[in-house]
Amino acid sequence: MSKLKLIIYPAPSLQKPSIKVTDFVVAKKLVPDMIDTMNSAKGIGLAAVQIGQSIRLAIVNKDADESLKEHLVIINPKIFSASSEIDTEEEGCLSIPGKTCLVPRHRKIKIRYTDVSGQEQKLKATGLFARVIQHEIDHLDGVLIIERTMKMIKGQTKAAIAEGLADYRAGRVAGPYKNMAEFKASRQKRKTLGSILEK
Ligand SMILES: [Zn+2]
Repeated sequence: MSKLKLIIYPAPSLQKPSIKVTDFVVAKKLVPDMIDTMNSAKGIGLAAVQIGQSIRLAIVNKDADESLKEHLVIINPKIFSASSEIDTEEEGCLSIPGKTCLVPRHRKIKIRYTDVSGQEQKLKATGLFARVIQHEIDHLDGVLIIERTMKMIKGQTKAAIAEGLADYRAGRVAGPYKNMAEFKASRQKRKTLGSILEK
């Protein structure tokens, strides 16, 4: 196993959709190195596109949920059911070091995916587990947290994060989204949010 180089924003590949996995033998071979890379970067999940392989494969750290006995490998995952309740929490991304965003996510989801042995699986996830899976599936679709956020929190100091959270709680920034239409509209804001990040 070896640690791989992480692809860092604004690498264009991070904003392109990954292709469906058809060769499970090739996909499975990536997993040990992805686990090493995730662990050494202290990440809670990692998508193949973040190590330069644009295929629909991601791993979720077992720390994301107590039901997980080992790191979860999800191949060609699809959300087939999502709760209307949206939770907005702070999120980071290994490909956007030093930045965190407040990101709205479905509280509960159900997904279909293929496991490393090529078997079709289904699972239910809630809270942090659901959040990590949604983050990783976004990577597979070429979507980053800077497109999902309603408020960029700059830097990584506790003071900056506290200020961002205070703004959000005091209603000085938009959200939480009232409905799915607003949530989906957040995806249209790529350009605006990108420019906020660059400033
Ligand atoms: Zn990420």
